[in-house]
Amino acid sequence: MLNLVLFGPPGAGKGTQSQKLIDKYQLIHLSTGDLLRSQIADKTELGLKAQEYMNKGELVPDAVVIGMIADKIKGNPAAKGFIFDGFPRTVAQAEALDKMLNDNKIPISGMVALEVDEAELTQRILLRGQTSGRADDQDESLVKKRVSEYNTKTKPVADFYTTQKKFTSINGIGEIEEIFTNICKVVDKLPQ
Ligand code: AMP
Repeated sequence: MLNLVLFGPPGAGKGTQSQKLIDKYQLIHLSTGDLLRSQIADKTELGLKAQEYMNKGELVPDAVVIGMIADKIKGNPAAKGFIFDGFPRTVAQAEALDKMLNDNKIPISGMVALEVDEAELTQRILLRGQTSGRADDQDESLVKKRVSEYNTKTKPVADFYTTQKKFTSINGIGEIEEIFTNICKVVDKLPQ
């Protein structure tokens, strides 16, 4: 079983690369951002609560996203593996994920981080906002807030996986195919 965490700031290309990885390795895609947006579209109680945070560019509370991920893991007992995209975003989420997976005896195989500098990120997200329809992609101050949330709360998650010897960093600037090839080189060496 291959359980991969794709890591990186907003706009690093996690969504794009996730799609390619799913096709190649037949993994189930678990994107907390997508799951939250679908809850918002369905106007669920969880979605309405999460929206308050997302509208401000802040992370939604850990318990909300941890519960969503736990449900999805339980709901896919026959999965060949999962790709976690945009999760875990805090050390508390990473600890909760380890606990969930170890209870089911399926640990994280590795984390691959996409490195992109801040100036490039802001440009990419604002460009994406022209077509994505996402309000949080269109407002520069929200984009800056999301990057700052990443720097303060999410970056420490890299140390969490480094301590477990599961962390690899990749240059996230360049051609999509070239970046994908570099990710696959790492993935192919992971324990499965
Ligand atoms: P994304 O689509 O991954 O860029 O996520 C969009 C927004 O959803 C983020 O700015 C957060 O408000 C929220 N979000 C997504 N994933 C998480 C997570 N793992 N923890 C907390 N908030 C999240």
